[in-house]
Amino acid sequence: MSDERSVADEVADVRMRRPHVLVLGAGASRAACPNGDKNGKILPLMTDFAICTGIEPVLKRWGIDPTMNFEDTYSNLSEAGEHSKLAQLNQLVENYFGELKLPDYPTIYDHIVLSLREHDIIATFNWDPLLLQAYLRNSGRQKLPKLAFLHGNLLVGYCETDRVLGLAGNCCRHCGRPLIRTQLLYPVRHKNYASDPAIASQWALLKYGFKNAFMITIFGYSGPKTDQEAIGAMQAAWGTPDNRNMEQTAFITLQTDDEISQGWDSFIHTHHYEVQSNFYDSWLANHPRRTGEAYISQYIDAQFISNNPIPKSADFPALWAWFEQFRAAEDLANPARDPATKPSRGTRHV
Ligand SMILES: [Zn+2]
Repeated sequence: MSDERSVADEVADVRMRRPHVLVLGAGASRAACPNGDKNGKILPLMTDFAICTGIEPVLKRWGIDPTMNFEDTYSNLSEAGEHSKLAQLNQLVENYFGELKLPDYPTIYDHIVLSLREHDIIATFNWDPLLLQAYLRNSGRQKLPKLAFLHGNLLVGYCETDRVLGLAGNCCRHCGRPLIRTQLLYPVRHKNYASDPAIASQWALLKYGFKNAFMITIFGYSGPKTDQEAIGAMQAAWGTPDNRNMEQTAFITLQTDDEISQGWDSFIHTHHYEVQSNFYDSWLANHPRRTGEAYISQYIDAQFISNNPIPKSADFPALWAWFEQFRAAEDLANPARDPATKPSRGTRHV
């Protein structure tokens, strides 16, 4: 075996069958739209959530510090039984997120959905519709990864009878009834929200992914704090100090090393992880559709590998044309597979 591995070698190789799991938090949507959405609306982080979404004056009126973490604010109101205040917050937040639209040019979210394969999983905590908008406008160009919406999503609906997930309002292709929008779930402390069947199916997909992943990338997500379901899933993914399941972890984050340690030390019992502040420096952006094969080549076969970076400035026609290089090898390996018709673990995805 040669010590050198060219881009052509990497593109022709499709031997990895285990998933790459990408977990997205609010920071990923902000990075995808650093100047705001198509209409300049800012994608909020947990720390500036109240200011961005316009709920700041409402919280002030209620005597609540608007700079407090929104998860904590919401949990406090919930525990105090303030149902009408919670309903008002829900409506304001849904109105804001419901209007968000991706810009017309390719964004990080377009690059992400094109850069993972059908056995890979993108799990997002975000309510905004941007990831799904990217999925829809790139579908048919490549076989795309599975999506999991861990806290529900404004665009996603579910048929409980047939366990079908799709665009909210579209008809279930089995029973013909409209898909009911998944509940938007706020990470309330101690609440067993995964008892909701639509949400439970999303967590089942994430847990399957964590169990089988060769690599987990955490993008713009600072770690679970009040979210009990997430804490449990993360603990299972990385195991205990004596029984480590997952060695390959990548963070794409603007956080400092200290902040990463604070958020993740109770989950990740090793310092063997890579941290990038820019998505385009990540393993995913430099080995699109071949992250697993590049991993085997570098870390198991000990070869010198070359990067094959996403053309980040290309417009859609040029971007889609560039991604055609991967098709031949994938079709040869999987001639009959079609993600549009293949159910994934009992839940059919959009
Ligand atoms: Zn149905």
